[in-house]
Amino acid sequence: VKRNPGEPEFYQAVQEVAASVIPHVNEHPKYIKARILERLSEPDRIIIFRVCWEDDKGTYRVNRGYRVQHSNAIGPYKGGLRFHPAVNLSVLKFLAFEQTFKNSLTTLPMGAAKGGSNFDPKGKSEREVMRFCQAFMTELCKHIGNNIDIPAGDIGVGTREISFMFGQWKRLKNEFTGALTGKGLEFGGSHIRKEATGYGCAYFMEAMLKHRGDGIKGKTCVVSGSGNVAIFTAEKLIDLGAKVVTLSDSAGTIHDKDGITQEKLEFIKDLKLFKKGRIAEYAEKFDGSYHAGKKPWGVKCDLAFPCATQNELFQDDAKELAKNGCVAVAEGANMPCTPEAIRVFQEERILYAPGKASNAGGVAVSGLEMTQNTTYMAWSGEDVDLLLKGIMADIHQQCINYGVVDGGYIDYSKGANLAGFKKVADAMMAYGVL
Ligand code: NDP
Repeated sequence: VKRNPGEPEFYQAVQEVAASVIPHVNEHPKYIKARILERLSEPDRIIIFRVCWEDDKGTYRVNRGYRVQHSNAIGPYKGGLRFHPAVNLSVLKFLAFEQTFKNSLTTLPMGAAKGGSNFDPKGKSEREVMRFCQAFMTELCKHIGNNIDIPAGDIGVGTREISFMFGQWKRLKNEFTGALTGKGLEFGGSHIRKEATGYGCAYFMEAMLKHRGDGIKGKTCVVSGSGNVAIFTAEKLIDLGAKVVTLSDSAGTIHDKDGITQEKLEFIKDLKLFKKGRIAEYAEKFDGSYHAGKKPWGVKCDLAFPCATQNELFQDDAKELAKNGCVAVAEGANMPCTPEAIRVFQEERILYAPGKASNAGGVAVSGLEMTQNTTYMAWSGEDVDLLLKGIMADIHQQCINYGVVDGGYIDYSKGANLAGFKKVADAMMAYGVL
């Protein structure tokens, strides 16, 4: 805490991993001598820069840009960019730290980073977003590259923003290399990338339920958020035969007792991903109620998927889910459940998948996009989806290998932390004092 004052999210993330890893480290003194945990909680480097751009009225605007390059122990730095007014160093350091374990779990050779800006794309014109992205990349391009650091999307950064940034990268560097992932299909993007985090989250839930002889079909699901991750989590759940009854945004929640169908979801995709509208409009078009300022956790369900943002599901929400009979939770977002909420899930023996395991599908397919780019290949959607499924099953297995606790309950959090830690720690040990 002393070394990182005013960084509560970063501290929360480190503490959560340390709680699982410290008993393991204590059994393996080589990690203590090499001060692995201490080294792993210090990013390799942090780049902070000014982003100056001009709005449509000709007014100069100034934002702050960041890239936290956390660890390249097992591969080039890799992780998303977030554009949101709440972006600060604590949030990006927590995300980069988490990314280290997540990328390790994917089985692909990827290090970890995270970046972004306090720029708010909401209410900006397309040309303003373009000018901001170009200004942001003008500085960021000095620090990234195909074998150095490969950013991707996150909150507020979708295909449109990645495309503006990739265009500027290409112009500045005069080279066409896959320095960003999440690109459009016409210029080096991968099939299933935009769907991958959400699909992967649903696949992970399927694996957890299957492991205890259950399945997704017929289950009632609550999903929070209505961005990239939430929408494609819902899409795959519907495809697997579940009933999705909620989605939300930062203003409120919609509840459709009959279930959101694929047709209704197409309306939401257009509304949220392209028109950047409000989820409230769903209740005006279809049956279903809108609850301003509310989250979905009070709605009766079998399965819950927090897919919006960090610290969006609290202890009381977890108790409410338990009371209503929820049997499993898979995080689509990064760190959406508070430590107190997680404790409730574990005490109630509700299956709980941490984001670093259940939302790793996005970065995994980003890794597959990198492979396609470096080999000048473009794989089919079916091939990528098959690989994604295989990777999610592999991550699930790694969690089981390290996460079984008393009575056969799987502590997925412990399993993910230990499996992710081991690979990175062993690579660091091999490098010696660095
Ligand atoms: P999007 O920007 O596409 O969507 C974010 C969604 O969350 C929107 O519905 C937004 O509502 C809502 N939201 C944002 N902030 C808040 C808040 N403070 N309170 C309530 N709702 C909020 O982002 P993504 O879907 O890409 O990302 C969602 C989460 O998933 C993040 O935690 C991200 O780090 C994580 N993630 C994303 C990956 C990806 O591939 N995109 C990969 C792995 C993890 P509104 O429209 O009102 O802003």
